Amino acid sequence: MLVVTAHPDDVDFGAAGTMAAFTSAGVEVTYCIVTNGDAGGSDREMSRADMAALRQDEQRAAAAAVGVRDVRFLGHPDGMVQPTLELRRDVSRVIRQVRPERVVTQSPERNWSSIFASHPDHLAAGEAAVCAVYPDSRNPFAHPELLDVEGLEPWHVSELWIMGPAAADPSAQAFGIAVDTSATVERKVEALLSHRSQIPDPDAVAERVREWARDQAARAGLPDGSSAELFRVTRIP
Ligand SMILES: [Zn+2]
Repeated sequence: MLVVTAHPDDVDFGAAGTMAAFTSAGVEVTYCIVTNGDAGGSDREMSRADMAALRQDEQRAAAAAVGVRDVRFLGHPDGMVQPTLELRRDVSRVIRQVRPERVVTQSPERNWSSIFASHPDHLAAGEAAVCAVYPDSRNPFAHPELLDVEGLEPWHVSELWIMGPAAADPSAQAFGIAVDTSATVERKVEALLSHRSQIPDPDAVAERVREWARDQAARAGLPDGSSAELFRVTRIP
């Protein structure tokens, strides 16, 4: 299973409870983070190179909190992500290396009810990941250097999961799934709080994450007090 996101901490907000559930069940999970998060934080004294290194360390710690050991950074500049052919190739390379059944990524569609979720880097990373899943990683003639120079055989991803509920079309929720994270929500909190440079008030963030998880569960019709994360799933023949 491979997760592709724009920034360190994106996977933790959207899917860390689910990742903890999968790794507990023995599934190997790899994170592919498009940027190093070097435009993050508010400390103007810190060099951007130091911030990038710090955020990589924080993301590795967050991954470890939910049982993920393989974290790869593509090093595209934070705040400037575009769904270019170069980024599609870079994500396709990781897909062909990892050979996941399932790819989880961010929505390429703007969600007008959550402007933070629709950061332009998220939209671009999601779009590039979707293009890498289909058609690039399965087509031997896409990014030919991957096969010809690097020897990476095409790979067919069978499931695409988009983090969050479907944005604009409530009827499409029927095609969404809810992962019950009641048993793992505290590991999600621990993962999120690993991003210390981004979180001035850890208690407030922890409480907001628990509350959000309960809201997601209620929305999915799970019993009172449950926690959940929502995804929109596409199966790819
Ligand atoms: Zn982000």
